[in-house]
Amino acid sequence: MGSSFKTSCFGVGAPFNGVFLALGLVSMTLCFSGAFSELTKFQQGAKPDGSLDLLVVGDWGRKGTYNQSKVAEQMGRIGNEMGIDFVISTGDNFYDNGLTGVDDPAFEQSFTSIYTAQSLQKPWYTVLGNHDYRGDVLAQLSPVLRKLNSRWLCMRSFIVETETADFFFVDTNPFVDEYWAIPNEHSYDWRGVIPRHRYIETLLKHVDVALRESSAKWKIVVGHHPIRSVGHHGNTVELDQLLLPILEANHVDLYVNGHDHCLEHISGITSPIQFLTSGGGSKAWRGIDDSANKDGLRFYYDGQGFMSLSLTPDRCEFVFYDLNGQVLHKWEISKELHFAN
Ligand SMILES: [Zn+2]
Repeated sequence: MGSSFKTSCFGVGAPFNGVFLALGLVSMTLCFSGAFSELTKFQQGAKPDGSLDLLVVGDWGRKGTYNQSKVAEQMGRIGNEMGIDFVISTGDNFYDNGLTGVDDPAFEQSFTSIYTAQSLQKPWYTVLGNHDYRGDVLAQLSPVLRKLNSRWLCMRSFIVETETADFFFVDTNPFVDEYWAIPNEHSYDWRGVIPRHRYIETLLKHVDVALRESSAKWKIVVGHHPIRSVGHHGNTVELDQLLLPILEANHVDLYVNGHDHCLEHISGITSPIQFLTSGGGSKAWRGIDDSANKDGLRFYYDGQGFMSLSLTPDRCEFVFYDLNGQVLHKWEISKELHFAN
């Protein structure tokens, strides 16, 4: 019963799985009736003037080693200066193989005891990376972790609504053919995802509908895998084919990801979308793909660091920092405000 429930309710916030499973048949009825067919939404407060400041970090969970703690320290400093409202994690939260369970000490060693600055005691809206799927993926999605640390808000796909911008978090892992190959050097925890084609089809539909219904001034999509990147992993062709057309049709402003262990900004060629990689939370130094198409490439840094994002109704600014907190790249986008007479 448990697995069939999860199969039927992909795309729905997994932290609810435990609740649904506990409720048994009643929950299954609700699920099949479509009552929970849309992506879960969080309402996130902004500052009194409507502005919003946040940090983005990815590919980080290494128990403080490999400069994770140095990046965390600078995130705390910049986060304090900006008065950030929340943090986004672009996935690969716990290396090398996710968490072993809700009692895995890596949660404390790589998250709670690393991001200790006062400014970082804000919601951490978090997606899963491929390394997270190599462990007990339901552990990261479990409300047990949220009880251990209330900052932790990890789901497969969900929406964060603010006064100024809407953020659409998309679970990109099931899209990648390589992870489904048999034989495979890694094993992935696909509970809640199979059958794959239905998961992807429904997820794309939900994302499309949610984007279309959004009247936010800024639409920002977050996933683990890059659509465009000139880094080690490069473009994710499955997302290029299946997700990008939906983002372009719905006038998405930013696509933000991790996976490639670098900091990177590429401007869209076929649309105004800005592609931003923030995957330098600890892993880095994998080089640049010399053969990659570099059209629209504005910035590439092959080391550790993170990104900030500041939004007002008519202005969006993102900044990339290295592990010393030095500004490496800054970009601003403006939108005209239209007032009704
Ligand atoms: Zn990854």
